Amino acid sequence: MTETKLPVKNMTAPTEYLKDMEQTDPALIEKLFSYLDEINFGPFTNYEVSAALESRRPTPRDLAALLSLTAEKRLEDLAQKARRLTREHFGNSINLFTPLYIANYCENSCLYCGFNSKNNIKRARLNEEEIERELKTIAQTGLSEILILTGESQKKSDLDYIGRAAEIARKYFHLVGIEIYPLNSDDYAILQKKGVDYVTIFQETYDVKRYAALHPYGRKRVFSYRFNAQERPIAGGLRGVGFGSLFGLSDFRIDALATGIHAYLIQRKYPHAEISFSCPRLRPIPGNTFPLAGRISQKNLLQIICAFRLFMPFAGITVSSRENIIFRNNIVDIAATRISAGVHINIGGHCGKIKGDEQFEINDNRSLAEIFSMLKERGLQPVLSDYLYV
Ligand code: SF4
Repeated sequence: MTETKLPVKNMTAPTEYLKDMEQTDPALIEKLFSYLDEINFGPFTNYEVSAALESRRPTPRDLAALLSLTAEKRLEDLAQKARRLTREHFGNSINLFTPLYIANYCENSCLYCGFNSKNNIKRARLNEEEIERELKTIAQTGLSEILILTGESQKKSDLDYIGRAAEIARKYFHLVGIEIYPLNSDDYAILQKKGVDYVTIFQETYDVKRYAALHPYGRKRVFSYRFNAQERPIAGGLRGVGFGSLFGLSDFRIDALATGIHAYLIQRKYPHAEISFSCPRLRPIPGNTFPLAGRISQKNLLQIICAFRLFMPFAGITVSSRENIIFRNNIVDIAATRISAGVHINIGGHCGKIKGDEQFEINDNRSLAEIFSMLKERGLQPVLSDYLYV
């Protein structure tokens, strides 16, 4: 196997915004692509990997070294350092949350997604009463953090609808996150007032050619608007922003490198922002024949997560129920700081009144009580909320 060569060299990220899309300073995207152009993935020497492992202030080039094939052979060293840094920065705490899908309508056509507007799935949107019923059911389990998700449809899940869902969620939960379509900063400011604390936006892949091929139409085609989607919530007053690629869509080493540098640049520009990573891999999709890349193993995912921990020791890292029980049990011992529990990803699933289909298949459907016991058995502290309002 040879080291990956960067295919992003000399690529220009698309910057054609639609009229209603807020434009932000292009310096960030230019900086990221110039880093990617400068850093050649290979081959890294063992010495460079050792230097990255020992660095107190890792650089983007150190991150590339940690993500390299050479570092893959030193996974145990990465994991040990990651474990030490995680315990130093987060103690034994592991935060718990659950996702709530309130609608699955989408106006985009991402080839890898079950919500693709061309897919013949059962579409639904919960009304306010149904949202509240789901939220109450989840709150009764003891969870204090909720992540509200929709497909990306401005028509079916408009700002008022999402804002209302956040307001209802705030009645039952200490922490409210969203994973919805990217917005302008004034829209995020509205959602912040409705009770939203943080937003996660997945770039999916930073390989702009692959991005264009995977997103044949819809607002999501505008790579730059999505790329700048972490700056706008910060401008709108949200506390936290999450970053992620969907590993397996393209070369995972490059996507991980780009994700890490993207978060690093935002952290340097907005030191007050709470930064986190989500680390999903492609999962089978109901009714979709998109070929799973099969190019990212659990071992690869572990390397990415450890590399993120070493690169940004204070960043939160979420591992979702896309991963299986064994992987999730082990990753909380090493680098993850937040995992989901009691997951139902169809529309209406928490109350057992399913109205609409799910986006992908999950791999760990343990209840909150089961996740709680697992963490306790491992000497970890399950945390339902670490944010107090006084
Ligand atoms: S990934 Fe998001 S935007 Fe794309 S089809 Fe799925 S729900 Fe819609």
